[in-house]
Amino acid sequence: MLTIRGRLAWSYALALGTTMFVFALTIYLVQRSESLSELDDRTRLEADVIAALLQVSQREPGGVVVTNRATGKPELDFRVANLLAVIPDFVIVLGPSGEPLFLSADTRVLPFTEADRLLQVVSRGDAAVGFGRLTLGAPAGEIRYYVRSIVEAGAQVRWVLSGASTAELVLGPQRLLTVMVYVAPIILIASILIGYLLVGRTLRPVENIVDEVEAITDGRSLHRRLQTTRSRDEIERLTATLNAMLARLERNFASLRRFTADASHELKTPLTVLRSGIERALTHPKAPPEVMEVLEETLIEVKRMTEMVDSLLTLARADEGRAPLHLEKVDIRELFLEITETAGMLSEQAGVSVTMVIPESPQVLAADARRIHQMVMNLLTNAIKYTPRGGSVWIESAMADQRVNVTVRDTGIGIAPTDLPHIFDRFWRVDEARSRTGARPGAGLGLAICKWIAEAHGGSIDVKSRVGRGTTFTVTLPAGADVPAPPEEAPATT
Ligand code: ATP
Ligand code: MG
Repeated sequence: MLTIRGRLAWSYALALGTTMFVFALTIYLVQRSESLSELDDRTRLEADVIAALLQVSQREPGGVVVTNRATGKPELDFRVANLLAVIPDFVIVLGPSGEPLFLSADTRVLPFTEADRLLQVVSRGDAAVGFGRLTLGAPAGEIRYYVRSIVEAGAQVRWVLSGASTAELVLGPQRLLTVMVYVAPIILIASILIGYLLVGRTLRPVENIVDEVEAITDGRSLHRRLQTTRSRDEIERLTATLNAMLARLERNFASLRRFTADASHELKTPLTVLRSGIERALTHPKAPPEVMEVLEETLIEVKRMTEMVDSLLTLARADEGRAPLHLEKVDIRELFLEITETAGMLSEQAGVSVTMVIPESPQVLAADARRIHQMVMNLLTNAIKYTPRGGSVWIESAMADQRVNVTVRDTGIGIAPTDLPHIFDRFWRVDEARSRTGARPGAGLGLAICKWIAEAHGGSIDVKSRVGRGTTFTVTLPAGADVPAPPEEAPATT
């Protein structure tokens, strides 16, 4: 695909090429037609001059026509013939019965058949009078001639033909065409290059805008605005329009975040009341078993809903920049030890073996212990949840280049390559069709939170997966006690 810059440069070149071609063709045609009419004027003038010369010579004693002693045929007197020999073109003088009296040097050197064709023309006598043309073989090529009858030079001379080859004349315009053929590519290449550079300079402000918009629309920088120019052109309008759009987007995003945060917050209290109510009802000694069963199912759902509302609130607060990290020194070994018990319970329930490789030496991070715990637990529960019975899960941590890499690996169902780019999106789950409360319940918020936590700590999260083989999540976090600057907002939903 050609860029606008490339397309414009090509258009310039095409326009210039076409203009040059039309220009050269017009000059060629005009010059050619002028040259031909000059040639016609010349042949007519030559014929007239010959007629005048014969008229004058005819008054000399002996006339203009003599008999050749060798051939016995009539011909022009040698003095007249010498005068006519000066004329460079094809000249033929005929007597009244069509006998040739004079052939110019040009005519004599023609091959016999071609000279004969020229003679045939003038032999038609009065029928041939006027302009005409005849195409002979190279090098003479096309000949334009003029035939006139001579009445003023006595009875012995009757017709004269004067003709000239167009070959030498069209050479002028043809040379122009040749020059154009050589010069045109140079001009075209130069114009493409200059056009490309000029368009590049013209489009640079647009490219700058694209770069700036790209940087802004990563979701974290909607408060930023494009640099305004005072150029009073389309660029200034474009910048102003985009800035207005960014302002609207920022307002909309802000109100959306506020709404989500408020809604989740408002839901928390009723959910807590509901949960404690159900828990209290479950302790009722006289409740019939079927009621107990319903209450237990409801409690599971309420717990799930509470978790979802918690996750939503976390993300909404992070978006608003109201989820500050409480940084402290966190040793990964301690973290692993903390989750051992929960991991054991989860693995037992799911029938999946969980191997936790506790690092031998301390691996210290400057991090929010609660958030890091939440992130590792999210990855671990995912690994157990998406691994069928009998499978295995490993969790380990390694330190390299001042970075701590926590890896959660499983032999589970895996994720298809087409799904991988979406798994960190909010509310995104591979199998949407399956109920959120089915065999593998979830809201699709866990990984979004993991990504936010990793990035908020100045780290990253990476995933590799093969369908049916398993998945590996790697979280990379900066090691050491340096306290990273708290981020403004969480990654936005894409
Ligand atoms: P939640 O974590 O909010 O309870 P969830 O587990 O469905 O719900 P995420 O943790 O965000 O949501 O994961 C998103 C999707 O990515 C999951 O629905 C699942 O399809 C896929 N996924 C995540 N981890 C794994 C894994 N270890 N193996 C296979 N698929 C996974
Ligand atoms: Mg999850």
